[in-house]
Amino acid sequence: MVIDCHGHYTTAPKQLQAFRDEQIAALKDPKAAPPKVLASITDDQIRESVQPQLTFQNDRGTDVTIFSPRASAMAHHIGDATTSLDWTRHCNDLIYRVCSLFPENFVGVCQLPQTPGAPLANCIDELERSVNELGFIGCNLNPDPSGGHWTAPPLTDRFWYPFYEKLVELDVPAMVHVSASCNANFHATGAHYLNADTTAFMQFLQADLFKDFPTLRMIIPHGGGAVPYHWGRYRGLAQDMKRPLLTDLIRDNVFFDTCVYHQPGIDLLLKVVPADNILFGSEMVGAVRGIDPETGNYYDDTKRYVDAAAIDDSAKRRIFEGNARKVFPRIGRVVAA
Ligand SMILES: [Zn+2]
Repeated sequence: MVIDCHGHYTTAPKQLQAFRDEQIAALKDPKAAPPKVLASITDDQIRESVQPQLTFQNDRGTDVTIFSPRASAMAHHIGDATTSLDWTRHCNDLIYRVCSLFPENFVGVCQLPQTPGAPLANCIDELERSVNELGFIGCNLNPDPSGGHWTAPPLTDRFWYPFYEKLVELDVPAMVHVSASCNANFHATGAHYLNADTTAFMQFLQADLFKDFPTLRMIIPHGGGAVPYHWGRYRGLAQDMKRPLLTDLIRDNVFFDTCVYHQPGIDLLLKVVPADNILFGSEMVGAVRGIDPETGNYYDDTKRYVDAAAIDDSAKRRIFEGNARKVFPRIGRVVAA
């Protein structure tokens, strides 16, 4: 079985974006009331909307996608805590409907109703609702809800601890995943995403978060940003700072996905990061949608790269399935081995 740990609902019916547009318009007009209800979306419209993902799963030989709302649209910097909560709940409810219609193809992961400067109580409530009522198996946690201005404390700060306590209690992981950038210096998927991945790893290296939460599991997407390429730098920094060996630091707690869109990048990732800390992911249909003229294949067809990599079959099985089951244990309740 091949579990893709990283997919977003980038193809949602247009009613979802219409709700968001109306919500944003109301923020700019003090006389307007923000919408509360999403226009009706039929099951057929949902079925139609995920045909691209189903086609790619079939064509590429992957089985199930761990599926979350469109990351760039989370945009936690827009509006206030109520804006974020209303938007988040609609996005998560739609993921639930996709997963209910295609239980063999999609398992849900939730967006969180984060807001810059706001406490995490809403996030804890929405995580509980998503896991206990919607059957979701994880969440996307934005380390920078300000959208590129980095006003939140580091992920290792005690600010985040009440949320981590809930993750541990529910036994679900978080993927560290930023959203849109409202800082023109940082292109969202080309810079902001990779900055955040790299930044999160360095934060984990500097503090004892996983001593405080030995069972907390964090996935750093997009192949870990710049981390694998600079593994020597991080090993050296850890050594200078009298921190643990990187392999000890990440062993049970930090995982990278394979959303790296060329063979040399995947080969490097697999060479420097232990196979037990890598989860298969493609982020389709997502950041990069084109076909690589050098190979004739889609850039985000990452299964090809793992298939072609010089690692043994046992490592491939763990990357394709076993590690995802370890990091997302609740997947076992919905997807048989
Ligand atoms: Zn993503």
